[in-house]
Amino acid sequence: MSSSSLRMPLRRILSELAGLLLAASCAGCGEPGELLCTVCRAELTSCRVDTITPDGLTVHAALSFDGVAARCIRRLKGEGETLLAGVLGDALAPVLDEVSASGAIVVPVPTSRAAFRRRGYRVPDLLVRRAGAEPVDLLIHEGEREDQRGLDVRERRDNVRGSMRARHRGAGEQVVVVDDVVTTGATLDEAARALRQAGFEVLSAVALAATPRHRRLIEDSSATRRK
Ligand SMILES: [Zn+2]
Repeated sequence: MSSSSLRMPLRRILSELAGLLLAASCAGCGEPGELLCTVCRAELTSCRVDTITPDGLTVHAALSFDGVAARCIRRLKGEGETLLAGVLGDALAPVLDEVSASGAIVVPVPTSRAAFRRRGYRVPDLLVRRAGAEPVDLLIHEGEREDQRGLDVRERRDNVRGSMRARHRGAGEQVVVVDDVVTTGATLDEAARALRQAGFEVLSAVALAATPRHRRLIEDSSATRRK
């Protein structure tokens, strides 16, 4: 075996080991020792939260985006801690399995080019894989949009509208759209719009986590309806 064929895998192993050592404090509580302590791991048990987007798409979220879950998702999205995708994928799995049980195609929300360049991986795709499903990248971004962070509900909707399209036309195939975090639901609505326009039947959406703000909107609107 030549030295060059050894060098690459060895380098990869060393960089993964370095990652493990650097990550040797709990992502949930900061306790030194392991990537995620037993107490925080238990916090990541899937507790299905159903919400609805502004356009009326049902979203099944596995977790509430606060506490340990929010800190772990930030470490995965912002700090490149891809080792957390395993345990987060475990939380996503039961919800995704149930929603796509009919054989629906699992379509992750596309990652913008800027975000892919920054991270080197696509968070929704990675989570779907770690949840044991096969992501089908049916959607692509049409041009770059402003970062959604800091925009309110209407601004997010305007910003994202027309930003996606399907790679090819469908013939009524059932799909489930998946994103990591649902905030206002504007991104999921745009994904559903693009898929429907291309001829797919969008059953519902699945998110790893729903922000409390999004849940509050839903609770308020259902309270209004009950009056
Ligand atoms: Zn912990």
